[in-house]
Amino acid sequence: MVLRKIVKIDEEKCNGCGRCVSPCAEGAIQIIDGKAKVIRDELCDGAGFCLGVCPTGALTIEEREAEAFSHQAVEEHLEKTPHTETQEIEISCFNCTRTDQQAPLFPIRYKGDSVWVCAKCLPQMIHG
Ligand code: SF4
Repeated sequence: MVLRKIVKIDEEKCNGCGRCVSPCAEGAIQIIDGKAKVIRDELCDGAGFCLGVCPTGALTIEEREAEAFSHQAVEEHLEKTPHTETQEIEISCFNCTRTDQQAPLFPIRYKGDSVWVCAKCLPQMIHG
Protein backbone atom coordinates (compact mmCIF):
# COMPACT_ATOMS: atom_id res chain seq x y z
CA MET A 1 0.00 0.00 0.00
CA VAL A 2 1.20 3.51 -0.78
CA LEU A 3 -0.13 7.00 -0.08
CA ARG A 4 -1.27 8.35 -3.45
CA LYS A 5 -3.99 10.16 -5.39
CA ILE A 6 -6.96 8.08 -6.52
CA VAL A 7 -10.50 8.68 -7.77
CA LYS A 8 -13.21 8.89 -5.11
CA ILE A 9 -16.88 8.33 -6.03
CA ASP A 10 -19.65 9.85 -3.90
CA GLU A 11 -22.42 7.27 -4.18
CA GLU A 12 -25.00 9.73 -2.86
CA LYS A 13 -24.32 12.01 -5.84
CA CYS A 14 -23.81 9.27 -8.48
CA ASN A 15 -26.87 8.69 -10.67
CA GLY A 16 -25.34 5.76 -12.56
CA CYS A 17 -25.36 7.55 -15.92
CA GLY A 18 -22.15 5.79 -17.02
CA ARG A 19 -20.47 8.82 -18.59
CA CYS A 20 -17.32 8.22 -16.53
CA VAL A 21 -16.78 4.67 -17.81
CA SER A 22 -15.40 5.36 -21.28
CA PRO A 23 -12.96 8.22 -20.43
CA CYS A 24 -11.04 5.83 -18.19
CA ALA A 25 -8.43 4.28 -20.48
CA GLU A 26 -7.62 1.70 -17.82
CA GLY A 27 -11.18 0.40 -17.56
CA ALA A 28 -11.09 1.04 -13.80
CA ILE A 29 -14.68 2.26 -13.51
CA GLN A 30 -17.76 0.13 -13.98
CA ILE A 31 -21.43 0.64 -13.16
CA ILE A 32 -22.41 -1.90 -10.52
CA ASP A 33 -25.92 -1.97 -9.05
CA GLY A 34 -26.59 1.43 -10.61
CA LYS A 35 -23.54 3.19 -9.17
CA ALA A 36 -20.08 3.91 -10.54
CA LYS A 37 -17.33 1.97 -8.79
CA VAL A 38 -13.54 1.85 -9.06
CA ILE A 39 -13.40 -1.92 -9.40
CA ARG A 40 -9.77 -2.28 -8.20
CA ASP A 41 -7.52 0.41 -6.78
CA GLU A 42 -4.49 -0.80 -8.78
CA LEU A 43 -6.34 0.01 -12.04
CA CYS A 44 -6.89 3.69 -11.18
CA ASP A 45 -3.93 5.97 -11.90
CA GLY A 46 -5.63 8.99 -10.31
CA ALA A 47 -5.22 11.09 -13.47
CA GLY A 48 -8.84 12.21 -13.19
CA PHE A 49 -9.92 12.23 -16.85
CA CYS A 50 -13.29 11.01 -15.61
CA LEU A 51 -13.91 14.05 -13.37
CA GLY A 52 -14.83 16.50 -16.12
CA VAL A 53 -17.62 14.36 -17.56
CA CYS A 54 -19.58 13.74 -14.37
CA PRO A 55 -22.79 15.80 -14.43
CA THR A 56 -23.38 15.52 -10.69
CA GLY A 57 -19.95 16.26 -9.22
CA ALA A 58 -19.73 12.74 -7.79
CA LEU A 59 -16.10 12.29 -8.81
CA THR A 60 -13.16 13.81 -6.96
CA ILE A 61 -9.54 12.95 -6.37
CA GLU A 62 -8.51 12.02 -2.85
CA GLU A 63 -5.17 11.10 -1.35
CA ARG A 64 -5.23 7.89 0.66
CA GLU A 65 -3.47 4.59 1.26
CA ALA A 66 -4.17 2.33 -1.72
CA GLU A 67 -2.64 -0.41 -3.82
CA ALA A 68 -0.03 1.11 -6.12
CA PHE A 69 -1.15 1.74 -9.71
CA SER A 70 -0.06 -1.23 -11.84
CA HIS A 71 0.45 -1.07 -15.62
CA GLN A 72 0.65 -4.87 -15.63
CA ALA A 73 -2.69 -5.20 -13.82
CA VAL A 74 -4.23 -2.79 -16.34
CA GLU A 75 -2.89 -4.79 -19.30
CA GLU A 76 -4.21 -8.04 -17.85
CA HIS A 77 -7.56 -6.43 -17.05
CA LEU A 78 -7.96 -4.95 -20.56
CA GLU A 79 -7.00 -8.26 -22.17
CA LYS A 80 -9.79 -9.97 -20.25
CA THR A 81 -12.23 -7.08 -20.66
CA PRO A 82 -11.46 -5.06 -23.81
CA HIS A 83 -12.21 -1.41 -23.13
CA THR A 84 -14.75 -1.22 -25.92
CA GLU A 85 -16.85 -3.73 -24.01
CA THR A 86 -16.85 -1.53 -20.90
CA GLN A 87 -18.26 1.47 -22.75
CA GLU A 88 -21.83 2.05 -21.67
CA ILE A 89 -22.61 4.96 -23.98
CA GLU A 90 -21.24 6.38 -27.22
CA ILE A 91 -19.78 9.81 -26.69
CA SER A 92 -19.79 12.55 -29.30
CA CYS A 93 -19.00 16.25 -29.72
CA PHE A 94 -21.87 18.33 -28.32
CA ASN A 95 -21.38 20.85 -31.17
CA CYS A 96 -21.05 18.73 -34.33
CA THR A 97 -21.80 15.16 -33.06
CA ARG A 98 -18.48 13.74 -34.33
CA THR A 99 -17.65 10.60 -32.34
CA ASP A 100 -14.25 9.70 -30.93
CA GLN A 101 -13.82 7.51 -34.02
CA GLN A 102 -13.93 10.67 -36.15
CA ALA A 103 -11.89 13.14 -34.08
CA PRO A 104 -10.20 13.34 -30.67
CA LEU A 105 -12.68 14.41 -27.99
CA PHE A 106 -11.96 16.50 -24.89
CA PRO A 107 -14.13 16.85 -21.76
CA ILE A 108 -15.00 20.47 -20.99
CA ARG A 109 -17.39 22.41 -18.78
CA TYR A 110 -19.78 24.63 -20.79
CA LYS A 111 -22.73 26.64 -19.49
CA GLY A 112 -22.87 24.56 -16.35
CA ASP A 113 -22.73 21.18 -18.11
CA SER A 114 -19.98 18.61 -18.60
CA VAL A 115 -19.77 17.97 -22.33
CA TRP A 116 -17.37 16.59 -24.94
CA VAL A 117 -15.96 18.78 -27.70
CA CYS A 118 -13.95 17.53 -30.67
CA ALA A 119 -10.55 18.77 -31.84
CA LYS A 120 -12.17 20.47 -34.84
CA CYS A 121 -14.73 22.47 -32.83
CA LEU A 122 -12.49 23.35 -29.88
CA PRO A 123 -10.42 26.01 -31.75
CA GLN A 124 -13.63 27.75 -32.84
CA MET A 125 -14.77 27.86 -29.23
CA ILE A 126 -11.46 29.30 -28.08
CA HIS A 127 -10.98 31.86 -30.87
CA GLY A 128 -14.62 32.57 -31.78
S1 SF4 B 1 -20.45 10.26 -14.49
FE1 SF4 B 1 -20.84 10.75 -12.31
S2 SF4 B 1 -23.05 10.40 -12.03
FE2 SF4 B 1 -22.47 9.37 -13.97
S3 SF4 B 1 -21.96 7.23 -13.35
FE3 SF4 B 1 -20.02 8.37 -13.30
S4 SF4 B 1 -19.85 9.08 -11.14
FE4 SF4 B 1 -21.98 8.46 -11.46
